[in-house]
Amino acid sequence: MDILLFPIVFGWLAGYFVNYASDVLPRTRHFSRPVCHHCQSSFSWADYLTLRACRSCGKGRGLRTWLVQILAVASFTYFWLSPSKVLGFPLGALVLIYFGIITVIDLEHRLILHPTSLFGAILGLFVGTYIYSYSRSSGILSGLGSSLLGGLIGFGVMYLLYQVGGLVARLRARRMQAAGQADDEEEALGGGDVYLLGVLGLMLGKDFILNALVLGVLFGGIVSLLFIIALLVRRRYSNDALMTFIPYGPYFIIAAFYILFF
Ligand SMILES: [Zn+2]
Repeated sequence: MDILLFPIVFGWLAGYFVNYASDVLPRTRHFSRPVCHHCQSSFSWADYLTLRACRSCGKGRGLRTWLVQILAVASFTYFWLSPSKVLGFPLGALVLIYFGIITVIDLEHRLILHPTSLFGAILGLFVGTYIYSYSRSSGILSGLGSSLLGGLIGFGVMYLLYQVGGLVARLRARRMQAAGQADDEEEALGGGDVYLLGVLGLMLGKDFILNALVLGVLFGGIVSLLFIIALLVRRRYSNDALMTFIPYGPYFIIAAFYILFF
């Protein structure tokens, strides 16, 4: 049992960091004092770390905070017992924390932030080089090459998809204007996803980035299909439902997670 104390404590601390980064980065873009989501008054560090409700407005810390803490402890314990074969535990833990932060921020704000993408690029280059050199027992240079090429492929493919998405959005805006409706400026694929796929490409390298792209698109497509079926069943379906913004980022993160850890 003592042997599990380490991943449980470390997982709880990792959960703090994912929550903290997801709370402050979308607001200030740097590590600042955490504030209440409801009334914007600052938390004391003691209150923040003990997950207390806000003292000014009395509102609790929200479901996400608790979910992240629990999931972090559960996943750290799981991967302590059976670590990713290619990453090992320490590097795997770092990747898990990173994926946690971008997933939460993307789901809550539909944003992939530039500071997290920049950090991800450095982490991705390191992880991609390490995996390739280690699994092929080849030199660092060929690992670097695989990582950079993977990044280029991920970024390039997503950039093209983004251009197509932009074209569709413009056509739709024109159609809506013609119909006398205001343009709602929704994009099918966010620009941040281009950077995200660049980061995932660096991480996975040239051999696996296409797998992640295909898996992500398939997975996102299946979930969207289920969503449309649910709307049809509840008779809420309209022409616009098909065009509703789908945050694709989390699906690509799940795909990369699957490839790296299983
Ligand atoms: Zn408050």
